Formats: sequence, structure tokens, C-alpha cells
Amino acid sequence: MSLFRRESSRAEDRFEAWLKRMHQERVLSGQTEPAGPCPDEAFLRGVARRSKKIRLSDPRIDHAANCANCMNRILAMRQSIRSERKKLALGLSAVCLVIVVGVIAGSQYRFHHRHTVGIAAPVSTTVDLWSTGTFRGAQPGQLQSVLLPAASVSLTIILPRFSTPGQYLVAVTRDQSGNGVVAEGIATAFASNGQEKLSVNLNLRSAKAGAYFLSTTDKQHQAAYYYPLQIRQSTPLTPH
Ligand SMILES: [Zn+2]
Repeated sequence: MSLFRRESSRAEDRFEAWLKRMHQERVLSGQTEPAGPCPDEAFLRGVARRSKKIRLSDPRIDHAANCANCMNRILAMRQSIRSERKKLALGLSAVCLVIVVGVIAGSQYRFHHRHTVGIAAPVSTTVDLWSTGTFRGAQPGQLQSVLLPAASVSLTIILPRFSTPGQYLVAVTRDQSGNGVVAEGIATAFASNGQEKLSVNLNLRSAKAGAYFLSTTDKQHQAAYYYPLQIRQSTPLTPH
């Protein structure tokens, strides 16, 4: 590792420690608004121990990181864990930094958008592929460009005419051969008003704005179709 890399990662560590301190101060002084009820002690202990069983997507994580009570409990638990296991307490694990930085982003968002829905709420959107070609191997024609935000998206797809029911794999990929999967999900098509539809959640939060492909693969026939897709930056955070 070069000296430069070491220097810059040290600077990053300092920056992250600073962010964490700033965030903790705001939470402990009651400036944040936690959503939902306080999770139970076992969960907080899991957070304090950075248990792998706890998923970062768990809304209770979001709560705990914005609640003065929970944060106090976690800090106290961490203190005792630290004295038990000094070695493990050295520094912060990458997982914890991800939580803290992610939560700061979330709480900053809420701080500026107190009256709007939290950042975790997925953006609902519908993509209508009804009148696109369904010839296998053929390029889908006359498709208005599909536009999705770089966010957690709750996507409803109206499948092309003559699509069959059953399971589909929906993916956002870099290219038309299915490489560079950005997000994917499995959904079962359901009939609605004579159309086959499917609903799937795609996490595009970490996707950079740009050109991608939306693919639907009929699991039964293993037929994949690719549609040009644009991902745009999610609404910028505008303080007011
Ligand atoms: Zn709480």
C-alpha cells in the first residue's frame, strides 16, 4: 500500500469518526425523530454486538440509530462488551460504518423533509410493456424509454401482450446479455384486466445514473427480453 493510500484512508477514518460523533450528538440531544416503537433489548444487544443476524434493511436499525433511548442503551451495551472483549472493540467494523453513514444520510433527509415519508419508503412506479413486441430474439420496438429513479423501487410491470403467466426473473443489468446485474427480483405474473402484471421490489439506491437494461425472463420458457432503461438520480436533497 502506498503512503498516499494510507494517508487518505486515515483521513477518511477521521472524517467517518467525525460524522459518527456529530450524528450521535444530534440523536442524544433529541434532535432526531425515531420512527416506530423502541425495539426489544435482545435486538439492541444484537446491534451492540454487531450480530450478523441483524439485517441493515431492518427498520428497527433505522429507529435505534435515531432514538436517544436506544442509542444510549446501545452505547452502554457496547461499553460493557468493550471491556469484555477489548480486541474486538478496536475501531469500528465496516458494517457499523455502513450503518452509521447510511443512517446519517437517512436522518439528514428526514431532517429536511420532516413531513414527508421516510427515505426507506419505496417509490412506486409502473412500466407498461403491453404494446412492445414479444417475438423472441427480436428487438422490442417503439418502446418509450423506461425511466426509474436511483431509489428503492416498487415496480409494477405490465407484461407484453400474449405473455404467459408464471414466474419471472426481473433484473436491471448493464448490458443486453445480462451482465452487470444491478438489482433483481423474482415475481409471479398475475392477470389483471386481461393483462399479465407482476410486482417486484428493486433496490436501485446504489445505482449510478445512466443507461441500463430492464430484463424480464420467463422462468418456464427461459426466454429473456431486454428493454432500454434510464436510471436518473433520485430527487436531490434540497434544504429549505
Ligand atoms: Zn428507541
